Amino acid sequence: MPLQLRSDLTALTGYHSPQVAADVRLNTNESPYPPPPGFFEALQRALHEMPLHRYPDRHTVRLREAIAHHEGVPPASVFPANGSNEIIQTLLLAFGGPGRTACVFTPSYTMHTHIAQTVLTPVVEVKRRADFLVGGDLVAATVAKLAPSIMFFCHPNNPTGLAEDEPAVRAALDLDDMLVVVDEAYGEFLGTSWAQEAVRRENLAVCRTFSKAWGIPALRLGYLLGSPAWTGLLDQVHLPYHLNAFSQVAGMLSFDFVDEMRARVATLTSERDRLYDALAARSDLTVWPSLSNFLLFRPVCDAETLWRGLLEHGILVRNFASRPGIENCLRVTVGTPAENSRFLSALAAVLSAVKPATAKPGFDVSSPDSLGSSAVCDEQL
Ligand code: PMP
Repeated sequence: MPLQLRSDLTALTGYHSPQVAADVRLNTNESPYPPPPGFFEALQRALHEMPLHRYPDRHTVRLREAIAHHEGVPPASVFPANGSNEIIQTLLLAFGGPGRTACVFTPSYTMHTHIAQTVLTPVVEVKRRADFLVGGDLVAATVAKLAPSIMFFCHPNNPTGLAEDEPAVRAALDLDDMLVVVDEAYGEFLGTSWAQEAVRRENLAVCRTFSKAWGIPALRLGYLLGSPAWTGLLDQVHLPYHLNAFSQVAGMLSFDFVDEMRARVATLTSERDRLYDALAARSDLTVWPSLSNFLLFRPVCDAETLWRGLLEHGILVRNFASRPGIENCLRVTVGTPAENSRFLSALAAVLSAVKPATAKPGFDVSSPDSLGSSAVCDEQL
């Protein structure tokens, strides 16, 4: 008999961002720019001296110190891992599990839910307000109803691009016995961060990554910032030597090129604003303002048709046509100026060729205010 997947996992859909071949890939919120040549030269030099026949530093001491220095926090409040996804998994392994509920406000990054499910943590998805924010009242209602052990925020939120509202995060933090996770994967584009507060409080974890603004997703590196009162507990659950020596060094060397990273972020945010203005000027779609390196938009026409049309023009964007809460939406990652211009021309060409869709029941395709009122949905996923 063929092997059977764990029965509770068979219903999971996984994390599907189709890696379809396309000339211009604007679907996974990567940076279109690699780090500068000096970074690669330094990395090559480091590789020559790397004792590959030895296990890497198990406690990632030097990398922790480098991150701590960059963030202005003590090394004991830093935990580096293989991308922020491993951080989320590690947090859930340590503080979730059967009998402890995790709460996610949707639409948001689907891996929060998915990882919780894979590590047997019951997870409840609660719909955000119509403006995609959470607000203190919804946090209070959710806590009263579900008493979660872990609550996820995403600052700025993927896929909406909006910053989390401060009252919501504060309302969650005021509950001392709940772990509040603020995923700041796109934090460098936003400028505000909960990082300093994470070190001072005992129930806040901030996750950051080298995959977006730093431009090295291939090396799988991210880090957590939290109180030294509990960060050491994570050593109980991660695998020994989980972070390879090459990625540890790459992270340390990245900090020698902070100015270059900031310059890339400045270029991308100005390109994002150009893309936003161009999309906002169109009457055949609605675009949400973004504080990140991507934009969520909803065409009046059928989004699936638009997605395919863009692909025929060699442009791959993220298709959220059937994602609850953002039905008929697409998300475009900010690329190079040339890629963005190509996207805008292809968009204009496809939109002029397709017919507007008839609105699907349940939402008005043209209005960002039509996502329904917030509600606590206590469906166990
Ligand atoms: N958090 C958010 C909000 C993301 O969008 C992503 C990647 N798309 C991640 C975390 C994971 O990033 P990584 O594991 O590459 O650090």
